[in-house]
Amino acid sequence: MERPIIRYGHDDIGDWVATLSCGHLQHVRHNPPFINRSWVTTEKGRRSKIGKILNCVRCDRFELPDGFVTYKKTPIFTEESFPAGLKNDHSTQAGIWAKIIVTKGKLRYCVDTLEIDLELSLEKPGIIVPEVLHSVEPLGTVNFFIEFYREPDHLT
Ligand SMILES: [Zn+2]
Repeated sequence: MERPIIRYGHDDIGDWVATLSCGHLQHVRHNPPFINRSWVTTEKGRRSKIGKILNCVRCDRFELPDGFVTYKKTPIFTEESFPAGLKNDHSTQAGIWAKIIVTKGKLRYCVDTLEIDLELSLEKPGIIVPEVLHSVEPLGTVNFFIEFYREPDHLT
């Protein structure tokens, strides 16, 4: 999945790591002649690459970023009480992940652009990836809620 760089940091041994808009980290090493990324060695170079798109395979795998914390959850919805808007394509904002937790029954979870069509249940929660359109549909009687996640040091 394509994600822009939003900032930089270092790993334990001092190599540069970019944080992407999804919250995943990706090494941006300058290691010539194998990896030539001299821009990462200067402040100006790094700043010029803010917004540069990298391919995030961890988003492709629906992996909630390490260390993200839950900050909000919905009430428990039933097949009758759930907001109708959830049936249509909708998405979370940049950097906001969510988990669909089914406590009873079954819920269909679709991500059309990725051809994903899953049946969620008590044993099988669904992961919502930031900015990716998705929809849900009750399959008979169901109870579920949605838990939202973001970076622990989020400022807003
Ligand atoms: Zn990602």
